Amino acid sequence: MKRTIVLGALLVIGGLSAVMAQQQSRPPLADPVRVKDNLYVIMSSTPGPEFTGGNTGVFVTDTGVIVVDTKLAGYGPTILERIRKVTDKPVTMIINTHTHGDHTGSNDAFPASVDIVAHENTKANMAKMDAFKGDKAQFLPKRTYKDKMSIGSGKNQVDLYYFGAGHTDGDSWVVYPSLRVLQTGDMFAWRDAPFIDRNNGGSGVELPKTVAKAIAGIRNIDTVIPGHSPIATPKDLQEYQRFLADLVATVQSAVAAGKSVDEAAASIDLTGKYPGYKNERTKAAITALYAELKN
Ligand SMILES: [Zn+2]
Repeated sequence: MKRTIVLGALLVIGGLSAVMAQQQSRPPLADPVRVKDNLYVIMSSTPGPEFTGGNTGVFVTDTGVIVVDTKLAGYGPTILERIRKVTDKPVTMIINTHTHGDHTGSNDAFPASVDIVAHENTKANMAKMDAFKGDKAQFLPKRTYKDKMSIGSGKNQVDLYYFGAGHTDGDSWVVYPSLRVLQTGDMFAWRDAPFIDRNNGGSGVELPKTVAKAIAGIRNIDTVIPGHSPIATPKDLQEYQRFLADLVATVQSAVAAGKSVDEAAASIDLTGKYPGYKNERTKAAITALYAELKN
């Protein structure tokens, strides 16, 4: 009896240490999921113990592969290995939707010949990161744009749009026009309150307006790849825009009513109005909005 208990305890401890070892090693990446034709996504997860970074677009053109966002540092070899499962073509271009390390972290794993493209503000933000100092500066964007940039043509075309500040001040909206697919980066990361990165020029007040401009300005889309969550639809993006507008209006009312951040956070929960949404990041968003509104 005693022996069984000891063995059982050893098994439990063994199981626990296996789990802990797993958490310390990098979680694996899933195989690419085909979105349509020559476009795939290496899906990611929302930040947590299994976090690998943002969703990575893999667009197989006639001349090479365009990779949109490179996840956290250290994932480059695995991203390349996963791409090999769908094509033998070389990676010729990286597009970074914005500066964050979970979208730019593995730029340095790709050959120096790879073209790197981002919005001009994102290049400026990336240049401030330790990860792109010194020798690593070669993995900064080589080409930038201000309002719109088209790359390639026909079924190889990718359009980059900038509609203004939100998550940061340099977020690109990536459109694959022949496939009617939009990749949003973290302008639409998940069904929860947004991360507003004020240190990189983000603006919670502008965010719903910028998303509205993107919805109005990007036509002929039927599929949306969010920054950190499963493939969605234009309707989902429209709903997210309404959620953002409601969140900002609610926080503005709380500021006007003289509520503290804690009081506002205790009273604001939009998940009843938006089924399927989470309420995990609301307080952080409220805190950022308060700082912005009281400036
Ligand atoms: Zn981000």
